[in-house]
Amino acid sequence: MNRTVAQNGALVLFSGGQDSATCLAWALERYSRVETLGFDYGQRHRIELDCRAGLRENLRDNFPQWSGRLGEDHLVDLSVLGAISDTAMTREIAIEADAQGLPNTFVPGRNLMFLTFAAAIAYRRGLQVIVGGMCETDFSGYPDCRDDTIKALQVALNLGMDRRFLLATPLMWIDKADTWRLAQDLGGDALVDLIRAGTHTCYLGERGTLHDWGYGCGNCPACVLRRRGYQAYLAGQSVAELMAADGADVGGGA
Ligand code: ZN
Repeated sequence: MNRTVAQNGALVLFSGGQDSATCLAWALERYSRVETLGFDYGQRHRIELDCRAGLRENLRDNFPQWSGRLGEDHLVDLSVLGAISDTAMTREIAIEADAQGLPNTFVPGRNLMFLTFAAAIAYRRGLQVIVGGMCETDFSGYPDCRDDTIKALQVALNLGMDRRFLLATPLMWIDKADTWRLAQDLGGDALVDLIRAGTHTCYLGERGTLHDWGYGCGNCPACVLRRRGYQAYLAGQSVAELMAADGADVGGGA
């Protein structure tokens, strides 16, 4: 790979999950200075935050082309978000969909708040690009993952802070199989293996068994999405093709 490296810096929303780890590699490939940002908001799968330091260390030690670009890490306490939300992401209640089909893992305002805090930190650190793993393709019904939401917020943040931030969402239009392919393209098998075993996705925080697609309970919506994505990636298919072959409902389970 021989990509032109932009001189402007990037701040990556880095939770310790598959998507944000892929976004971090994407940013390291493109920008000369990359900082990371995580939020502790009382999430049930808080274990993902514990993955962050190990992932950063591994990227720095095993990917020499990126090690000089990886800068500071920021962890922000947003426990107030958990305190004002009543969702399956922040409470020990069953994960289910409401009457409109919106899963109760949706935390209202979460991404809006994340990106606003990210912009405040990017402002202070002189970073122009803010990278997030929001994705409209694997539609979970989260309205704050929509491309239009992100674009509207970019306009609002730039007006409100008098800056020219760019909110970059490299996963917006690709599915979970292509997210694995993107990792492969960026860092080869070493990056795929690191993301497979070093990231956390399971909503329930289950980390007992390492499956071929990673750690997790295997049954929660996040695990199902991740498992299907990995299977489709191995099969050289899209997630929709894999599910059509299985006769499963493409829109279900996530
Ligand atoms: Zn799970």
